[in-house]
Amino acid sequence: MPIRLAVPNEILPGERRIALEPSVAKRLLGLGVEVCMEKGAALSAHFADAAFEGVKLIDTPAALYKGAGLVFKVQPPTLEELDLIDDNAVIVGFMQPHKNRELLKKMCAKKITALAMELVPRISRAQSMDALSSQAAIAGYKGALMGADLASVFFPMLTTAAGTIRPARVVVIGAGVAGLQAIATARRLGAVVEAYDVRSATREQCESLGAKFIDTGVSAEGQGGYARELTVEEKQQQRDVLAKHIAMADVVISTAAIPGRPSPKIIDREMVTNMKVGAVIVDLASEGGGNCELTVPGETVNFEGRITVHGPLNVPSQVPIHASEMYAKNLFNLVSPFISESGELVLDFADEVIAGCVLTRDGEIIPEQYKAEQ
Ligand code: NAD
Repeated sequence: MPIRLAVPNEILPGERRIALEPSVAKRLLGLGVEVCMEKGAALSAHFADAAFEGVKLIDTPAALYKGAGLVFKVQPPTLEELDLIDDNAVIVGFMQPHKNRELLKKMCAKKITALAMELVPRISRAQSMDALSSQAAIAGYKGALMGADLASVFFPMLTTAAGTIRPARVVVIGAGVAGLQAIATARRLGAVVEAYDVRSATREQCESLGAKFIDTGVSAEGQGGYARELTVEEKQQQRDVLAKHIAMADVVISTAAIPGRPSPKIIDREMVTNMKVGAVIVDLASEGGGNCELTVPGETVNFEGRITVHGPLNVPSQVPIHASEMYAKNLFNLVSPFISESGELVLDFADEVIAGCVLTRDGEIIPEQYKAEQ
């Protein structure tokens, strides 16, 4: 029997994305899937119900989930949502497993198979399924625009009748997917960009985008291409070098993260105190507490009337059309290879990507790092 897919309205306050968009819905219907969406669920991302031709529009979450063997979500389901979802269903979405113990337990109790988008392996074959990357690219782009918007200066060099305006100096900290996109965007706007990351492999990537790499002499590659936490000595060395560059910056965009850990604190109060009047920090690491000691996640702090420390949360949601399109395509690319000719979902748990992102299955938490906390 064809699988019934349920796509609900995202209920987290401020979440404007949806885990489906019209072209993905069409492709799923073409594979024989029974595609169901909560009525009006995509309006926050500016997709009208009428754009989802062939999709069953359902009034209430309870009716939507009834009989659904597959659920597409952006945010982790709440415990109340989980009550409405059938036992043994497959749920695909961000799960934030490190802060959702109760959710994991309840998914086990209901024998839910949960595929966590943040656990999709960062391998070449899975690039089209990599939602961390698609959403981080949006955050980096938007972060650079936020910096330009909050800045007290122009980004580009301008030659005007009133004289020549120097370009803004932007420092990007953390050159992963978000940082590289922030560099590219700030460069396109004409700023002079410097960038820094603890992974030495990023130097070439930063330079290829036109940024000057800040060499602190600290290199901290961790497992799987991620960074590891720095030692106390390394932190001091990094601080001493970065402080000089941050003091000269008009805008700092920070994106540094270590998977499953709070954001590393890189910019302390003294560094902010020494920044130029009118300077701005856009702390894209706010979700994990922020890279700046003065960041208040979700708020914009005016430090001594001189410096703006902006700590936006859920930035991809501020670009809801493209964020939803990219995210829905990531989900489709992950799941569609396992839809049979008759429209059934038959996951292959020996597949490297599925094995990498399966979070709960048959009543058990699968990844070792989350099992230990069970
Ligand atoms: P992330 O969001 O985990 O972290 C952002 C950046 O912060 C990283 O580049 C990290 O090195 C850096 N960082 C951590 N601590 C720091 C510190 N103290 N100071 C300065 N910088 C610090 O990173 P991400 O964007 O998710 O990328 C993580 C890795 O995954 C990278 O190696 C990236 O190239 C790789 N990746 C691979 C694929 C693929 O092949 N499919 C796709 C995307 C990303």
